[in-house]
Amino acid sequence: MTNKILVYLDHFHGKAQPSSWEALGLAVRIAADTGGEAAALILGDNVQELAGLAFQYGAGQVFLAENPDLKDFRPEILADVIKAAAEEYQPELMIFPTTTRGRTLAGMAAVDLDTGVMVDVIDLDWEGEQIRATRPIYAGKLLAKLQCSSTPQIVTLRTRAFDKPEPDASKSGTATHLDVKIDSAAAQTKVLDIQEKASGVSLSDASVIVTGGRGVALNAKLEAPADLDEAAAEIWKAQQGFALIQKLADVLGAAVGASRASVDAGYIEYDHQVGQTGKVVSPDLYIACGVSGAIQHLAGMRSSKVIVAINKDPDAPIFSFARFGIVGDMHEILPPLTEELKAYLAG
Ligand SMILES: Cc1cc2nc3c(=O)[nH]c(=O)nc-3n(C[C@H](O)[C@H](O)[C@H](O)COP(=O)(O)OP(=O)(O)OC[C@H]3O[C@@H](n4cnc5c(N)ncnc54)[C@H](O)[C@@H]3O)c2cc1C
Repeated sequence: MTNKILVYLDHFHGKAQPSSWEALGLAVRIAADTGGEAAALILGDNVQELAGLAFQYGAGQVFLAENPDLKDFRPEILADVIKAAAEEYQPELMIFPTTTRGRTLAGMAAVDLDTGVMVDVIDLDWEGEQIRATRPIYAGKLLAKLQCSSTPQIVTLRTRAFDKPEPDASKSGTATHLDVKIDSAAAQTKVLDIQEKASGVSLSDASVIVTGGRGVALNAKLEAPADLDEAAAEIWKAQQGFALIQKLADVLGAAVGASRASVDAGYIEYDHQVGQTGKVVSPDLYIACGVSGAIQHLAGMRSSKVIVAINKDPDAPIFSFARFGIVGDMHEILPPLTEELKAYLAG
């Protein structure tokens, strides 16, 4: 029986990652089914507002540790506080969202608390004594069922694999402040500078993703400016291809993804890479343009609800996984498709 569930709420300077609410929503459902309690753990500086939101998202209890040393992501300090909170609250289950920070801290918590961690979980079954977690393995070809024989059982949840609950503004509560000792000097990590990136839809949280593969640069009808050498001309062509992808993404409120071939060729930054060595995404709609569908790419997106592929090769493997396929040149297909969708969504 899972009586106490502790959810780590991942946030950046007080702004929660949507996947944190997905994790809390799951904890609330398990608690309701098992007669247990879902508690939220928030670490940071000036994060009172988040505590209020956690109650609105259904937390029965909120533990808050506020300190200027907890403002930035310094894993050693945060892990110490998580350990102290877990030792005090004694949860049977701890849930972390699968953000980069959440994944790091879940691993550290498992070591500190001498237990196991089940990562990238897409389904949880909580009948009986223990949690049974499901996670994709071998690039998503198989699903593994996992159990953790020690407590607390720790899981990280794949983003968007679980529903995000609706907040209830009528709910409130009083957070419990944790009195934690922070040994800032002992931490090996110092945050020197934070540079904010130009805003855009986050790949991990996006419900729609438009992705460009190597095909973005393969536009036979487009002439690059004559003064560019071959390598620069390829990048220039890729930029024109990604501009088409961005236009469609803007119309759909989507994030822009990329294959590793696009990233390795320097067409777009690594942040956009989807796949085994990039981000794992599960949007409602994934539009793959000029992407062949290599197994390493599929590992990052095959759990998308609807996959649309645009590829000029009718035998491209991506078509075996796509619900809808368009055989043709993405550079010719994207402009009218974008216009049609824009008109459709406008009216
Ligand atoms: C250890 C390891 C990890 C990896 N991790 C990743 C990862 O995380 N993510 C990832 O994506 N890959 C990863 N890869 C690389 C992967 O194996 C593929 O090489 C890569 O996914 C191919 O990218 P692509 O589909 O863009 O390019 P290609 O395989 O070259 O495919 C391009 C596609 O575009 C089509 N095309 C060409 N021109 C047009 C056009 N004008 N219009 C429409 N279609 C067109 C072609 O028909 C082709 O199908 C990894 C590989 C290894 C070994």
